[in-house]
This record gives sequence, structure tokens and C-alpha cells, in this order.
Amino acid sequence: MQVSCFTVGNFQVNTYLITDEATGQSAIVDTGETRELVQRLQALDPAPDVRMILLTHGHLDHAGALSFLQEAWDVPTYLPRDEKPLFDTLPMQGTMFGMPHLDRPCGRIDHWIDDGFSIELGETTLRFLSTPGHTPGQGCFYDENDIIVGDTLFAGSVGRVDFPLSDPQKATASLRRLLELPGHLRVHSGHGPVTTLEKELKTNPFLGYLREERGLPGGPGFRWA
Ligand SMILES: [Zn+2]
Repeated sequence: MQVSCFTVGNFQVNTYLITDEATGQSAIVDTGETRELVQRLQALDPAPDVRMILLTHGHLDHAGALSFLQEAWDVPTYLPRDEKPLFDTLPMQGTMFGMPHLDRPCGRIDHWIDDGFSIELGETTLRFLSTPGHTPGQGCFYDENDIIVGDTLFAGSVGRVDFPLSDPQKATASLRRLLELPGHLRVHSGHGPVTTLEKELKTNPFLGYLREERGLPGGPGFRWA
């Protein structure tokens, strides 16, 4: 699977075009909240063969441009089921950041997905791991080499858990599950640079509790929940 990152919109969110190399079939992961991603993808030559839209979670910067994407690519769209309460607030989420209500439809969710879901993208099997905490149902999409984690985990940090529908204790448990996946997985976050699970387990100051649990060096780090 080839992973291309497009950093877009007012929140400088990382969105992704992931492509199965055997067939050239692609999925878009997350949207930004402006038309920028559509414009950048439409400028690609050759044009991407977009087969699906996957959303990690229902925050404005990750899902707010869904209707723009669906105007350009009328393809099945997937969102974690437990994100429905948050997705329903999409039109007014911008007010938290001094932005106006969305003046357009939010777009269409075709498939509400749960932990353990998997889907074929060409010859690539994409798996879904539910990692709630930052939001009620946020999740990650991964294959044998790459994982797209939304705002679950960042290089040197973790997703905020102080939003109205956040749950710090669920985030702690979710990161524990996420870090049980193979350490070589390249981590593509919703913001910031690429890292690996192994590197974050060793050095991320917010994952000290996992190092403690596993008897790894690196210190307890920051107590955040
Ligand atoms: Zn978020």
C-alpha cells in the first residue's frame, strides 16, 4: 500500500490517499474542512482511482469536507459507528474555533463500522481498530506496514482528551491496544510527521504507563489520565 499525505485546511490536518499498488485502487482517508483536498487530488496526474472514503472520526477537520469529496467521487463512505453522536454535531463544531456553522450538507455515511471490521482495497486488506478516547468512536485503518491513526497518536504526543465527548480512560485503554500491534508499523497521524509504533512506545512522553507495564526503560513520562 502506498500512502500519500495531503496536509490541508485551516487546521493543517493530514489527510491521506492510500493506494493498492497491485491494482491502483485508492481510498481517501479523512477530508479536511475545505475544498483543498478535492482540488489537490483532482490535480494529480494520473487521476486517482478512488473507490472509497474512510473517516477516522467525526471532527470537523477530519470529516467536514465530506460533501465536497462526495461531489467529486460518489463512492461508499465509512465512519466508526460510535462517532454518530459527534458526526451529528458537525455543522456547529466550527463555533468552538470561532468559525461559522457549516452552510452545506455534511455528506452521506454509507457504512457504520465497528472494531474488527476489514475491507479489501484491491489486493490490500485494510483492517479497522477502534480506539475511542479522543472521540467516542475514533479508529485506525491499517495493513501489514502502515497504520492511519487519526488523532489517536502523534509523534511525541497523543490526541486531546478534553473535548466534550472525550474520555481519557478510554484513550488510555485504546493506546494500550494500539501499541500491541507490530512495532514496525509506520504511523500516519492526523497532524504532524510520520513515526512508528516502536519509536512511540520507546520515547513518547504520554506512553510512560505502557513502558511501566512492560518493564521497558524510558521512564514513566507524563501522567495524563
Ligand atoms: Zn480530532
